[in-house]
Amino acid sequence: MQKLQIMNKELERLSLTDPLTGLANRRYFDKRFNEEVQRAKRSESLIGVMMLDIDHFKQINDTLGHQAGDHVIQSLSALIQRVSGRASDLPARVGGEEFCLLVCNETEKHIARLAESIRASAAAELVKYREEPIRYTISIGAYCVIPTADTDPVTLLKETDDALYQAKNDGRNRVVFISAVPPHR
Ligand code: GH3
Ligand code: MG
Ligand code: MG
Repeated sequence: MQKLQIMNKELERLSLTDPLTGLANRRYFDKRFNEEVQRAKRSESLIGVMMLDIDHFKQINDTLGHQAGDHVIQSLSALIQRVSGRASDLPARVGGEEFCLLVCNETEKHIARLAESIRASAAAELVKYREEPIRYTISIGAYCVIPTADTDPVTLLKETDDALYQAKNDGRNRVVFISAVPPHR
């Protein structure tokens, strides 16, 4: 019985983890994101969410190979964890070369700074794959809000994705930060 429980726990963990990076996967992120939005509604606290996407990643795959691309994804995953650094932050790999980061109970300023710091760290990083030096950049959409009763988590992610799309359109390797928090909060 106990063995079965341990196996079930392990299966659950695997179903919520991205195998390449060890980060939370989209399924786990969505679940936690919904819970945290509900929590922030009750406590009227601020939440920040970021979407991060590697720029021209197809080029990295095409010129250096899929494994080199995987290596860059792993490096970025480690970088996000290193720079965000708080146990309460939730980073996740939500797609091929796309990540989300949820930050709770922090200020707008912290979230804006954190996004810029992750972007700059990625741009400054020299990844080595089989002696081949690789440089890459990322674009980030960041969105801050104090959710109210009618705030929908799906809409929040859509706003964040729109910010990312704008960062790409504005030329990449940049952060588009949008705050829906009223002034003097
Ligand atoms: P943009 O700057 O607009 O984001 O351009 P991009 O080339 O990064 O964007 P696009 O979405 O066209 O390309 C993403 C590529 O990521 C396409 C796909 O082959 C690759 N990809 C998806 N998942 C993985 C993965 O797990 N490993 C590797 N190496 N590549 C992946
Ligand atoms: Mg990309
Ligand atoms: Mg992408």
